[in-house]
Amino acid sequence: MHLVLVNGNVLTMDPSRPRASAVAVAGGRITALDEVPPGSEHVVDLRGATVLPGFHDAHNHMIGFGMSLAEVELSTPPVGRLDELYAAIARRAETTAPGEWVIGAGYDQNKLGGHPHRDALDRAAPGRRVWLRHTSGHMCVVNTPVLAALGIDAAATEIPGGRVAVDSGGRPTGLLEERAQLLVGSLVYPYPLAELTDAIARAAEVYLKEGVTSCTEAGIGGGWVAHSPAELAAYAAAREQGRLGVRVELMAAREVLHPLGAHPDDNLVAGLDLGITTGFGDDWLRLGAVKAFADGSLVGRTAAVHDPYQGSDSVGYLQADAGELTGAIIAAHRSGWQVATHAIGDLAIDLALDAYARALAEYPRRDPRHRIEHFAVVQPRQVARAAALGVIAVPQGRFATELGDGMLAAVGPGRHEWLYRQRSLLDAGMVLPGSSDRPVVAGAPLLGIADMVNRRTASGAPFNPGEAVSAAAAVRAWTWGSAYASRQEHVKGSIAPGLLADLVVLSEDPTAVSPDRIAGLEVLATIVGGQCRYDAGTLDGLS
Ligand SMILES: [Zn+2]
Repeated sequence: MHLVLVNGNVLTMDPSRPRASAVAVAGGRITALDEVPPGSEHVVDLRGATVLPGFHDAHNHMIGFGMSLAEVELSTPPVGRLDELYAAIARRAETTAPGEWVIGAGYDQNKLGGHPHRDALDRAAPGRRVWLRHTSGHMCVVNTPVLAALGIDAAATEIPGGRVAVDSGGRPTGLLEERAQLLVGSLVYPYPLAELTDAIARAAEVYLKEGVTSCTEAGIGGGWVAHSPAELAAYAAAREQGRLGVRVELMAAREVLHPLGAHPDDNLVAGLDLGITTGFGDDWLRLGAVKAFADGSLVGRTAAVHDPYQGSDSVGYLQADAGELTGAIIAAHRSGWQVATHAIGDLAIDLALDAYARALAEYPRRDPRHRIEHFAVVQPRQVARAAALGVIAVPQGRFATELGDGMLAAVGPGRHEWLYRQRSLLDAGMVLPGSSDRPVVAGAPLLGIADMVNRRTASGAPFNPGEAVSAAAAVRAWTWGSAYASRQEHVKGSIAPGLLADLVVLSEDPTAVSPDRIAGLEVLATIVGGQCRYDAGTLDGLS
């Protein structure tokens, strides 16, 4: 389709030509700025609406989000108290056959006043299996039938890298942390691929309405984030069926890498079969980094920090043996992978930085763009070191609002200025991507952009406001920054002739309105590969 959008306020993210008033598209690519090429079939008058490169969520869980759309919503709001949570579970149980699963997601004990308890869940959903996932994704609560099926219903059980919570009498409460929650996965895993494909399609519909044209799935195929060892096939099927909607980059969980038996000179010590590695695929579906978990969650106070959490003597814990994890990171680097390490606490961040530094020293590689996902509790020296190593930090703006109060409480005032840095990363010369970690928090890019600027918690407290960035920097993060983190800035993330025609049309310019209005701006249209995939009416039914 030859399409030209005219009379727009086009923010290109291309420093050599930052603004334009018209964008021409043909063959899925941007062909020209500020002109209407001959032969243009559709010329759309935007009447001053703003055009940006399509948003790219650099860290999300698309299948997890799509599945959560079919689960009981336990976020606060709408669920503000534990009795409301139990009532919501009881309502779902009424339409669930005995023995089947009632699955809920998004609860936060900081807001509810405590974790749900197995006994109350047994009363709310008699005879059903109940599985409630914490908003952090790092813990869950299950009821007695699930504990019994796992053989851990009666007494304390040691789980390395995790915890089965017990009451003062030693009886499990239903709360399973970190590696202990993997046990529940063993009862439901693997999911049928058709179910996963449906989840992808459900998520894609939401993404397109919110202006997302690309996303990075932060781990498939193994570990606790996986839904099936053949998860990539669900994405391929969604694409085949025309239901993928957005461009997807898939991170491979580090658990699925293995020795390949290639020639020793090839350095392929950890890979996927056939030597498939970072970058394999095309503009719609490609393989990104390998994903490793160093630690857990900050609001859950399981992340590995150097100094104890506020009011406690706990310093969290690593998710793996430090030496084993370091070896895996170095092996992946050596084998040509981009590496993305989940590291929240400053101790876990040191582990990741040490591993990257060693990997680069032992096996030099040009521009590997290794990432640290979340990068949550960050000492000043760690910013400088990350910048020197060329590491890309991938923080989540929306965490400030939805999880900020719990985070401030977890680290205490002495470390507030270390939380979820943005400005100091840019000041150090690092590239800042935009991401949500959806379904951990709401994922609409305009919410994330607003929160990167406003930095306030749900209770209204300032959230390390010195690290706020301008709306222009936040928009750049969610477009060019995320493309850079995916090594795709030569293909997308800005609006210039030759790049993919991935565009979002907004009712107003987020860099020109007052910061408190950014979240309320309307997505008028979303164009992926030159095709209108969502249209609120502006493009007159071109979709
Ligand atoms: Zn994540």
